Amino acid sequence: MVVVMKKEASDEAIERVLGEVRSLGFTPHVSEGEQRTLIGAIGPAPTEEVREHLSALAGVETVVRITKPYKLASREFRHDDSRVMVGDVAIGNGAFVVAAGPCGVESRDQLAAAADIARRHGARVLRGGAFKPRTSPYAFQGLGEEGLALLAEARADTGMPIVTEVTSPELVETVAGTADMLQIGARNTQNFALLAEVGRAAKPVLFKRGMSTSIAEYLQAAEYILSQGNPNVVLCERGIRTFETSTRFTLDVSAVPVLKELTHLPVWVDPSHAAGRRSLVPSLALAAAAAGADGLIVEVHARPEEARSDAAQQLDDREFGELMPRLKGVVAALGKTL
Ligand code: PEP
Ligand code: MN
Repeated sequence: MVVVMKKEASDEAIERVLGEVRSLGFTPHVSEGEQRTLIGAIGPAPTEEVREHLSALAGVETVVRITKPYKLASREFRHDDSRVMVGDVAIGNGAFVVAAGPCGVESRDQLAAAADIARRHGARVLRGGAFKPRTSPYAFQGLGEEGLALLAEARADTGMPIVTEVTSPELVETVAGTADMLQIGARNTQNFALLAEVGRAAKPVLFKRGMSTSIAEYLQAAEYILSQGNPNVVLCERGIRTFETSTRFTLDVSAVPVLKELTHLPVWVDPSHAAGRRSLVPSLALAAAAAGADGLIVEVHARPEEARSDAAQQLDDREFGELMPRLKGVVAALGKTL
């Protein structure tokens, strides 16, 4: 349930409600809205007496039951769009942000060249995998901690915050020590131990949808992160498995408006991993923006043909440079800024 406080509720009244919520056996999660404070009370289904008791406390406007299995992620918990800060970049709530960079960090020069492309054309966040979850154990697995160090150098050189993937619970502390945003990949969407661990980390999370994860499953997975106390989650649709083989995955464009209806969390799209080849990436990127996404994560590489992973889908300088102004037009038509 959510305890909705009155606009004028005092700090004392809020403290009193928090105490009552705890003593009734619920875990409180506070959400400071622009107008009022909401207190999510997570625990067993509340009885009518419990709701009446909380409703009667000073400063309480109303107590609402959340019917969805994902509570903190739901629009019932928080009506307004959430805003997530990554370094000094604000995500969601009217801002359209593009993260760009190579699939994997391969070398200092490769990362610097890709970061330069990303920054020059208006990306605000730099991506790059240091720990790569690969389908084959024989494929390039990423540079690991050396890759993290190179990402930190690229951040110092460009001023762009970095997003990079964390692939296991034991690595969260290490990756969070460098990254500005922790990426959870599609192969780990339901790795609940990993989700709980990033839920305890003090860094925002870019949380990809699994290739076979329904939206209801996806939002319950997001709840694993939120319920551990980390409210800074950005969702990301990156294509799902269907019978179609002409693309790497099928970009579920519908997921964007569906998620925007069900949750207050920002929704990004990854057109690169959905498309699987560069000629399709711009169209999917524009479609995602038109469908109401809050941002994109796009793979770019100065020489895609030489990339050690995902060579077919990374955009080069010219391709990314052509996409960004077109994207700006679509985003502006929706009243957002890029
Ligand atoms: C990635 O973005 O580097 C990646 C591996 O994507 P996904 O988890 O969506 O496959
Ligand atoms: Mn990739």
